[in-house]
Amino acid sequence: MARYRDAVCRLCRREGMKLFLKGQRCLTDKCAIERRNFAPGQHGKSRRPKVLGYGLQLREKQKVRRLYGILESQFRSYFEKAAAGKGITGENLLFALERRLDNAVYRLGFATSRAEARQLVRHSHIQVSGRKVNIPSFQVAPGQEITLRESSRQLPSVQRALDVAGGRGLPSWLELERETLKGRVVSLPKREDVNFPIQEQMIVELYSK
Ligand code: SF4
Repeated sequence: MARYRDAVCRLCRREGMKLFLKGQRCLTDKCAIERRNFAPGQHGKSRRPKVLGYGLQLREKQKVRRLYGILESQFRSYFEKAAAGKGITGENLLFALERRLDNAVYRLGFATSRAEARQLVRHSHIQVSGRKVNIPSFQVAPGQEITLRESSRQLPSVQRALDVAGGRGLPSWLELERETLKGRVVSLPKREDVNFPIQEQMIVELYSK
């Protein structure tokens, strides 16, 4: 599957904010936003164009797409399904992104970033209700259990992630038994569970042009 392979800190610098794409490093002073908070590229420092209208909508869409690590075509397909569903399109879009298995694994604290969570899923370390699932975009549903395979629980990366995940807190739609590392989807996500500044209406306006 195609994926972004360039330096990820450039993405945060382009959006002008921390997207927390590199796990622990994002919380240290090595973070590129702490050191060089200007757009990447030769003219990034000197040019600060005023972004309005379409530009703002585009930046909002790019920010969310990059936050969840999704390529354009897949993001558009999420949007089209969200628009076809019942309810508010922007919220439907965010809920579908939240319900991705890689996001749920990250939110449960098994990984320090969504990219690391995706790797856990791709490498078959994750089970959903007792069955191996290695598709990062798999949509989790209420009642399902998300667990690490027995042999994967002692992975150093998982242990490191669990040590620091407490500070992030769990969203209300997930539960975690810390002793057994058993995660459970207790409900569908709610808007307040998306704890990142996102103006989803701008994305709807962008795609509705
Ligand atoms: Fe973004 Fe993390 Fe890189 Fe900082 S360290 S720029 S938050 S990916």
